[in-house]
Amino acid sequence: MSDPEELHDHDEAEHEGIHKGGLPYYGKRVMALEALLEEKGILTKDEIQQLIDQTDSVSPKNGAKVVARAWVDPEYKARLLSEPKKTLEESGYGELPEDPVIVVVENNDDVRHLVVCTLCSCYPRALLGRPPDWYKSLAYRSRAVDDPRGVMKEFGQHVPDSVEVRVLDSTADIRYLVVPQRPEGTEGWSEDELVKLVTRDSMIGASEPLKPEQVPAG
Ligand code: FE
Repeated sequence: MSDPEELHDHDEAEHEGIHKGGLPYYGKRVMALEALLEEKGILTKDEIQQLIDQTDSVSPKNGAKVVARAWVDPEYKARLLSEPKKTLEESGYGELPEDPVIVVVENNDDVRHLVVCTLCSCYPRALLGRPPDWYKSLAYRSRAVDDPRGVMKEFGQHVPDSVEVRVLDSTADIRYLVVPQRPEGTEGWSEDELVKLVTRDSMIGASEPLKPEQVPAG
């Protein structure tokens, strides 16, 4: 067996946080922020933990169920688009905050949407959980505005010139969910089957939902 010390061929300072129980820079910032929120009486430790747990409990599957239902139920879709908060609450989301407002948009033959937060990382967390790292990158935040069609193409989505692309800039006050177009060849599919086609990236407009033949087996 090798001596662990031999494998340990780099400077301790590189990962002081792990070895000495300290915290990296952003960890320290988070702790300081939490302490201030408590000190100022804005949130208790329990409330902060509840908010973290709530975000961690949401995944793109939650949003996918909403989209699949909208695909099979035109009446539900109409309500989802016109009264998203109320409709989502009725779909088992519990009480959603007034702020940020959730806006649901629908892709069709004439228009597709691409969601971005040009400032930071605003994202429909209540429906999709945490955003992917690329969503927060400067490259995405700037290129989604400069060249949305180019970005969509990189995600495998070909948008014909005849189709309008609308870029939606999320903010602290407003979050967008895209209902992508239902893939062809899914007539008669159940909601549960359709859920498997709805990817995270398709609900922010970057890519299209999976095609029936792309659904992983099992
Ligand atoms: Fe943001």
